[in-house]
Amino acid sequence: MPLASGAGAALTDLLREAFGFSSFRANQEVVCKAVIEGRDVLLVMPTGSGKSLCYQLPGIARGGTTLVISPLIALMEDQVRKLQERNFRVERIHSHRDRASSRQACIDYLNGDLQFLFIAPERLRVAGFPEMLAKRKPSLVAIDEAHCISQWGHDFRPDYRMLGQYLPTLRPAPVVALTATATPLVQDDIVEQLGLADPGRFIHGFRRDNLAIEVVEVATSKRAEMAGELLLDAACRPAIVYAPTRAQTEALALDLGQHFPCAAYHAGLDGQHRKRVQEQFLDGRIEVMVATIAFGMGIDKPDIRTVIHTALPGSLEAYYQEIGRAGRDGKPSRTILMHSYADRRTHDFFFERNYPDISFLEALFHQLRPEPEEKAALQEKSRMDPDVFDRVLEKLWIHGGAQVDFAENVCRGHDHWRESYLVQSDQKLRQLNLMLRYAEGNQCRMAALVRHFGDVADGQKACGLCDFCAPAECAGQKFRPLLEAERATVHQVIASLRVEGTNTTGRLHSELNPKAEMSRTDFEEVLGSMGRAGLVRFTDAIFEKDGKAIPYRKVSLTPQAYAIDHAGTASLLMKDGAASAGTGRKRKKKAALAERRKKGGRRDSPVESKPVVKPATKPATQESRPPAIPDTRIEEALRNWRMAEAKRRGVPPFKVFSDQALKAMAAKRPGTAAELLAIPGIAIGTVEKYGAQIYRILHERRG
Ligand code: ADP
Ligand code: MG
Repeated sequence: MPLASGAGAALTDLLREAFGFSSFRANQEVVCKAVIEGRDVLLVMPTGSGKSLCYQLPGIARGGTTLVISPLIALMEDQVRKLQERNFRVERIHSHRDRASSRQACIDYLNGDLQFLFIAPERLRVAGFPEMLAKRKPSLVAIDEAHCISQWGHDFRPDYRMLGQYLPTLRPAPVVALTATATPLVQDDIVEQLGLADPGRFIHGFRRDNLAIEVVEVATSKRAEMAGELLLDAACRPAIVYAPTRAQTEALALDLGQHFPCAAYHAGLDGQHRKRVQEQFLDGRIEVMVATIAFGMGIDKPDIRTVIHTALPGSLEAYYQEIGRAGRDGKPSRTILMHSYADRRTHDFFFERNYPDISFLEALFHQLRPEPEEKAALQEKSRMDPDVFDRVLEKLWIHGGAQVDFAENVCRGHDHWRESYLVQSDQKLRQLNLMLRYAEGNQCRMAALVRHFGDVADGQKACGLCDFCAPAECAGQKFRPLLEAERATVHQVIASLRVEGTNTTGRLHSELNPKAEMSRTDFEEVLGSMGRAGLVRFTDAIFEKDGKAIPYRKVSLTPQAYAIDHAGTASLLMKDGAASAGTGRKRKKKAALAERRKKGGRRDSPVESKPVVKPATKPATQESRPPAIPDTRIEEALRNWRMAEAKRRGVPPFKVFSDQALKAMAAKRPGTAAELLAIPGIAIGTVEKYGAQIYRILHERRG
């Protein structure tokens, strides 16, 4: 029965009678009202916060059929079951249902017998289906997991791309887009791609008050052992341990299984088995699930006490989603992320596998014809390894260079796919860089996450629980008092900032360590100890150069640090294990990798299949790459450029930068702002003004 809009008491009645809930949760009521009034809405709230109700209740209130688009069959079935239990008339159409049931669902829809119809987005590719929907317009359209439409998001699904194109035929129904993970960039993209009309934007609730977030730097070889130790205490279970590969989930589950009931979960296990272990986890017979990211979507287990990551996730979105599964019941819970420099390498490997070099796409694109041909035949013709072929074709398809019909016939698409492909792969790297920065960051973990999701106001408040706010409470990360040299650095930092007020961490490092006595990594750790003690504050900043966002970090003293004397720094704590040994080497490797990336070098896969076309003539492994040696041609090129720039500005060359800096640049070949800032004598102003030109000279001239 349609309901008059804005009827507050009536809404609460409907909530109670139709859904069995006594009151609205935070934000639900305002969102419901907006939708009932017929407004388009973008709703960004964390998983478990009750987003579904924000389309279900308005759907009932508006009458007619609500069309729900959902990307996962499991999610859809779960929602359908819950609605059926409440005696709503619900149907769904997806590939796991037989033809007869799908046909019946269509008939019911056309007869107006349904309150909710759930469909998978790929249905819209079935000839006649969108027309069928348009014959009897829905009264509301809900798009669940709406971030899937955006290639800026972490879980882009090509089938979502078509939604924007079909929505106009379903209007005038209002459209509600729901997601738990959308940065401000993704939010704008969703609005634009779906063509939402002046939507109400509701972005709320990312802070979780009961999660103690911990980030620990630990070598890959020690992580299994640490996970075991962390979970030994029964109070830390039930738990989810996220591991990066299927093989690792199985090995770790076997290991941990000696101490408590444990199972592995990944997409390679058969469906029956997965269902069984999932049920056993839900009912408590299995206490620890060791899983890949395949586990968790739609899992509603309230009492998970610990979530461990044994490797760095690829994006903050994925990470937040996964740690968010802890403590749904509101009780104190802990999340521990283990990482080290090795994680960057793993991600680089996957990145290069998942984002094939554009030359592969180019090669396949040129083999495509205007008329459709069978995918299998095309693969044969391409002479690519099937895995590589699939990925290359998928990318071409996503970006419009290929068209694939429902029977998997392929033909040539448009010619403008290159830029969007490059943009997307850049974005992937950007997400990874943000994740790395977060892991290495010295600030309140929760505040950093809340800000990342666009709630800037709420992101100012420290949580009091994380490894930054409460180091003494940490379960994984150990701390130690500072060494004398580190404490001396603390006082140098204080003295310097008392004069300068604020500085970038990179510049401060090179000013205080003109001969690189202390590595940048170690220096950042010392700053971290000061941050934890409330002596300094950090601000992340980004400057844009040539369309690329280059992050850097500023540090300033707190009032507390102005008053402190030598005795006052005795209680500072340094991360144990983040000690000086070996980090210099680490940095060199990092720089070498950044450089390789700049030059577009692609590392060969150590284990997986290799593309057969255009075999790479690059060095075989990271380790075999020779260390950077000064190259006189580069020095020459830099010198010439500096001269030209000096002439242009009418200043002597050393005013652009010093000879010493020039030599250091030629030797170290910085490829990022952070690396350039680490060169003694280079200030942020130089980076901003000349960074892009310098990188180009350092990395491109050599061909
Ligand atoms: P989301 O889609 O945001 O991840 P769901 O919509 O699946 O979350 O809701 C999570 C849980 O919260 C569900 O079990 C749902 O029944 C419950 N829920 C939603 N709204 C309320 C409410 N107002 N009162 C009590 N429980 C609610
Ligand atoms: Mg949901």
